[in-house]
Amino acid sequence: MRAYRLLDWQRAGFDEVPMPDPGPGEVRVRVGGVGLCHSDVIFLDSPAGVLPYELPFTLGHEIAGWIDAVGDGVTGVGTDEPVAVACMSPCGSCRWCRRGQDNYCVDTWHGRGFGTDGGLAEHIVVGAGQVVPLGDLDPRIVAPLTDAGATSYHAVKKVLPKIYDDSTVVVIGVGGLGAYGVQWLRILTSARIIAVEARPERIKAAADLGAHEVVEAGEGLSKRLAESIGGGGADAILDFVGSDATIRASMRNAAKAGAIALVGQGFGTGEVRYGAWAHDCDLFNPQGATIAELAEVIALAKSGDVVVEAEQFAFDDVEAAYERLKAGTLNGRAVVLPNG
Ligand SMILES: [Zn+2]
Ligand SMILES: [Zn+2]
Repeated sequence: MRAYRLLDWQRAGFDEVPMPDPGPGEVRVRVGGVGLCHSDVIFLDSPAGVLPYELPFTLGHEIAGWIDAVGDGVTGVGTDEPVAVACMSPCGSCRWCRRGQDNYCVDTWHGRGFGTDGGLAEHIVVGAGQVVPLGDLDPRIVAPLTDAGATSYHAVKKVLPKIYDDSTVVVIGVGGLGAYGVQWLRILTSARIIAVEARPERIKAAADLGAHEVVEAGEGLSKRLAESIGGGGADAILDFVGSDATIRASMRNAAKAGAIALVGQGFGTGEVRYGAWAHDCDLFNPQGATIAELAEVIALAKSGDVVVEAEQFAFDDVEAAYERLKAGTLNGRAVVLPNG
């Protein structure tokens, strides 16, 4: 079968690989859609010696499709059933998995499509417990829910205890993940949602997805945000950018006893010292999502209240899709269709 792989450092391309067969407890998925993610760009651009991977491997970690073969001992899923594939591949037996915190099982840099074979191929084999049935949802559309949707959902779930009906919450960056962040907050809370964006088309998207106000990103962000929030700060700030400027704006504008989720891999820095941000305000960098959280995301999507912004690309156009991702010209996720 055809697969799009990282063949060598800074060299990706199509290759022929053997069709995988499901072993005991596994299912094979005919891939419907694969969302492209900014972390793919990190893999594509990294020189040798930076990432802990053996090459080659097949890219793509936001995967949905249809089950087309099941291994021994697998029950409860039928062939042709549409499924979302969990982004990470937890072991099911370590201390994190035993606690239901399977998002912590593997480190963020290992999983399907990052270090081991991912979904940019006609088929993929995964553990039967790592798929979530999609019902009437179309795998060619909803693939981004597995990472962009679920990762942002996990971050929002962690800050929910900080949010009251009179709260103001801030979402910085309404791109691939932030667009879902806004929607989870709209669906799960009654808070006033302030989005931060620079790109004109995303300012409009933020409002369409549920933000009550949009503050323009860029020079002077911290002050503009303070004015928009009003006194007392925001009870939760989700930073999907993670630049120096957004981290500082978050630390200055989060409320006492609030929370700051640093989600974006912008690798910016902020100053940590006593009193540098509000008292008793949590500051954390969330990791992925559990399979149970993915199931909650799929359930919310089934309710019909979730907009999946995606632009579909033929398998042959995967490189053009990555170029659009790098250039920042996509409106939502690029979803590649390995089986048309
Ligand atoms: Zn990703
Ligand atoms: Zn585990």
